[in-house]
Amino acid sequence: MSKQTSEPNDIHRSAKKDLYEAPDYYQIDDLLSEEHKLIRDSVRSWVKKEVSPIIEDFAQKAQFPKHLIPGLAEIGAFGPTIPTNYGGAGLDYISYGLIMQEIERGDSGIRSAASVQGSLVMYPIYAYGSEEQKMHYLPKLASGEYMGCFGLTEPDHGSDPGSMITNIKDMGDYFLLNGAKMWISNSPFADIAIVWAKDEEGIIRGLIVEKGMEGFSAPEIHGKWSLRASASGELVFDNVKVPKKNVLPNVKGLKGPLGCLNQARYGIAWGALGAAMDCYDTALRYSKERIQFGRPIGGFQLQQKKLAEMITEITKGQLLVWRLGVLRNENRASPAQISMAKRNSVETAINIAREARQILGGMGITGEYPVMRHMMNLESVVTYEGTHDIHLLITGMDITGLNAFE
Ligand SMILES: Cc1cc2nc3c(=O)[nH]c(=O)nc-3n(C[C@H](O)[C@H](O)[C@H](O)COP(=O)(O)OP(=O)(O)OC[C@H]3O[C@@H](n4cnc5c(N)ncnc54)[C@H](O)[C@@H]3O)c2cc1C
Repeated sequence: MSKQTSEPNDIHRSAKKDLYEAPDYYQIDDLLSEEHKLIRDSVRSWVKKEVSPIIEDFAQKAQFPKHLIPGLAEIGAFGPTIPTNYGGAGLDYISYGLIMQEIERGDSGIRSAASVQGSLVMYPIYAYGSEEQKMHYLPKLASGEYMGCFGLTEPDHGSDPGSMITNIKDMGDYFLLNGAKMWISNSPFADIAIVWAKDEEGIIRGLIVEKGMEGFSAPEIHGKWSLRASASGELVFDNVKVPKKNVLPNVKGLKGPLGCLNQARYGIAWGALGAAMDCYDTALRYSKERIQFGRPIGGFQLQQKKLAEMITEITKGQLLVWRLGVLRNENRASPAQISMAKRNSVETAINIAREARQILGGMGITGEYPVMRHMMNLESVVTYEGTHDIHLLITGMDITGLNAFE
C-alpha cells in the first residue's frame, strides 16, 4: 500500500518537466536528410526550452506569449520556404513540415501564429505581390518586426468564402474598404492584415491593410476554450482608405486565398501530428509509471490497445505527410492531396488526445500534463483552414468528379 501512495506523487511531481521523446516506430528518420534532422532537432530543443515551461500558464491566462516572436523568427518559423533574398529561410517543404510538427508538439496556438505569418501573410505577398511590396514587407515579417494576420472568414461566410460581402470601391486615388472579418488569428496584435474583399465587379482582390489606417479596428474575441494561447479577433472596416499600391497585383478571384490555404494546410498536416506525438509520448510514459492494482496500468490489455492503436495511426500519418512533402518539393502535390493529409492528421491527433486523456485518468484534465490543452486546441484545428467535413467533400469531389458541397 505504501508503494501505491508514494509513486503517484513522484510521477505527478515530474509532470511539468518536458521529458518528450519523439516516437519513430518505422525509422522514418532514415528518410530525412542530415539538414532536415538538424533543423528538426534545433526546433525541438527550442520548444523544450522556450515553449514547454511557459505554455500552460499562457493558455490558462488566455494570452499569446508575444515574447516568443523573436525566437520563432530565429528558428525559421516565419516563411520557411520563402527565398532568403526576401528574408525567408529558403528551406524545402519537408523542413517546413518538420518545423510545424515540432512547434505544434509544444502548442497548436503557437504553431497557428507561425502558420498565419508564414503561409497566410508572407506567402500571398511573395506569390501575388509586387516587387516593391515584397521588398518592403517580407524581411520585416520574417524577422518578426511586423506581425500579420489573414482576413478571409466573415461572420456569415465561413466554409463558403466566395459569398463574402466585404468590398472595395474604386475612388480614383485609393480604394474604400467596408465590411468585417471574424475569427482572425493574430489580429489583435497584428501590424498588417491581408484582407480579401470583392471589387465593384464582384471579383475577390487581396489588400494589405495596415494598423492605424482610419476606420480599421481589430477587437479581440474572448471566452475561447480552445487555442487559448493564440489571439483571435475580428477585423472591422468602416470606410477605410486603402492606397492602390497596397493591392496585391498578381491575383484575382478565390484562387488567391485558396493558394494561401494550401500552403497553411500543408503545415497543419505535419503540425497536428506533433500534437498527437506529444499526447502519445505523455500517455506511454504515464502508463509505465502509474500503478493501480499493484502494477503499471500499461500492463493492462485495454491500455495497451489504446497505445498500440495510437502509434499505428501516428506511423501511418508520418508516412503520409512525408510522402506529401516529397510531392510538394517536386511541385506535384494537389490541393486534394493536401486536404486529405490535413483531415487525416487532425482526426488522428484529436482521437489520440482523447484516448491519452483517459489513460491519464483524473490527472488528464489538469494543466500538469499537456494532453487536455492539446485536445482542446485540436477542436479549433479540426474546424479552421477548411472543416473536417469540407475536406472530406474535397476528397469526394476529387475521386468522383462531382461537387457535393456547392
Ligand atoms: C480559433 C480559430 C482561428 C481561426 N483563424 C482564422 C484566420 O486567421 N483567418 C480566417 O480567415 N479564418 C479563421 N478562422 C475561421 C475558420 O476558417 C472557419 O471557422 C471555418 O472555415 C468554418 O467556418 P464557420 O466557422 O463559419 O463554420 P460554417 O461554415 O458555418 O460550418 C458549420 C458546419 O457546417 C458544415 N458545412 C458547411 N458547409 C457545408 C457543406 N456544403 N456540406 C456539408 N457540411 C457543411 C461545416 O463542416 C461545419 O461543420 C479561424 C477559426 C477558429 C475557430
